[in-house]
Amino acid sequence: MKIRTRYAPSPTGKMHVGNLRSALYEFLIAKHEGGDFMLRIEDTDQERFVEGATEIIYRTLEKTGLVHDEGPDKDGGYGPYVQSERMKTGIYMKYAKELIDKGEAYYCFCDKERLATLKSEVVEGKEITVYDKHCLHLTKEEIESNLAAGKPFVIRQNNPTEGTTTFHDELYGDITVENSQLDDMILIKSDGYPTYNFANVVDDHTMNITHVVRGNEYLSSSPKYVRLYEAFGWEVPVYVHLPLITDENHKKLAKRSGHSSFEDLLEQGFVTEAIVNYIALLGWSPEDNREIFTLDELIKEFDYRRISKSPAVFDIVKLRWMNGEYIKAMDFDTFYEMAEPYLKAVLTGNFDLKKIAAMVKTRIEVFPDIAAHVDFFEKLPEYDVAMYTHKKMKTDAASSLAVLKDVLPLLEAQTDYSNDGLYQMLLKYVEEKGVKNGYVMWPIRTAVSGKQMTPAGATEIMEVLGKEETIKRIRKGIELLENA
Ligand code: GLU
Repeated sequence: MKIRTRYAPSPTGKMHVGNLRSALYEFLIAKHEGGDFMLRIEDTDQERFVEGATEIIYRTLEKTGLVHDEGPDKDGGYGPYVQSERMKTGIYMKYAKELIDKGEAYYCFCDKERLATLKSEVVEGKEITVYDKHCLHLTKEEIESNLAAGKPFVIRQNNPTEGTTTFHDELYGDITVENSQLDDMILIKSDGYPTYNFANVVDDHTMNITHVVRGNEYLSSSPKYVRLYEAFGWEVPVYVHLPLITDENHKKLAKRSGHSSFEDLLEQGFVTEAIVNYIALLGWSPEDNREIFTLDELIKEFDYRRISKSPAVFDIVKLRWMNGEYIKAMDFDTFYEMAEPYLKAVLTGNFDLKKIAAMVKTRIEVFPDIAAHVDFFEKLPEYDVAMYTHKKMKTDAASSLAVLKDVLPLLEAQTDYSNDGLYQMLLKYVEEKGVKNGYVMWPIRTAVSGKQMTPAGATEIMEVLGKEETIKRIRKGIELLENA
């Protein structure tokens, strides 16, 4: 049997991290076994539809490499792949009527007023109202005359009132519910649209889906799905409900966390491959403790039986770390292309941006980190003279002043401002003085950067700054130290 999975998003907004995880796992399950991954757009809930959301779905799948084999834009013989278009073919009504004929569903003409009088009951802390099957007892004639009169109706599932229904989930195991607690849920709404639950089952079956992966918010309605499959006499697909994704405080990952969607993460300077890698680990882990995976490696390793039931914590610190690993591993040209806008945002002077980019490549976790590493090139920050004092380098204000005064004329005389040229020149001075490198380099680096930590050594910084700016900064250091 060929595995067929589907990603079935409702176009209701941004691509939430949880949605992307469902898509990724569906993709991996299919590809791990050489199966097909399909895209189906579930847009029957017209009230929740958001303009542009479908485009976000396409863009995200393309960018993340989750290439679908079939979908609205790629016919694989199971179309249409958009539920509003499927509806126009009459498929949902046809299957609803099939259930009516089997006694597994029925027309319901109850109006709002009557429904409001139904008793509700609290089950496991949740208030549920179970429809009282009033319309199940209408005669054939009553139904026909109501329909002929154009009375609004819905079609309801006719669930048994006795016995139990058992639903099997690959991770959660068997879940059994009392049939008396199953509401006769609506299959076709009064506007003729199928409900989300009904369309989902009809489509998964008619599109030959073998594995369904989705968030565990759907777990509680799953017994009703099983009832539908049983009513039709269809085989139930393999269900895999995924654990909740929480924030650091173990609360459901929400919009206000600021990093709940793929778009948010891209805007924050994360790299697509790192996001995908990280999301793969939100609930799944390989047999060893390996953490870095390309998409192809994930396809090879992914076994859905290793998905965990416990909530997955979205740890932004971990994602930052992982992103840093991806940046380190990038080839320089790709890195530079992505880094350039961030460099240009803080460096307006005539700098060798490629050299600066090379300095920060191994030091950042996300692209916006660049600014804090390189802003001193643009403008020497205000700094404290205490920075000249370094225990290990054996420097203090007095020794630093002496060094800066010594090297100023050397730097003025120097014409070769390459890193190497500057380094050789200063090395000579270090040897003549018989001191340690740091004794000389520390005060120089402090003077030219005004920072405790820099992405490169003194001579590399001077090379980028050029002679004029270097001399200016050394003089400024001397002035500061003299006035201290
Ligand atoms: N349309 C549902 C959603 O976007 C998908 C649920 C499912 O995969 O069955 O949440």
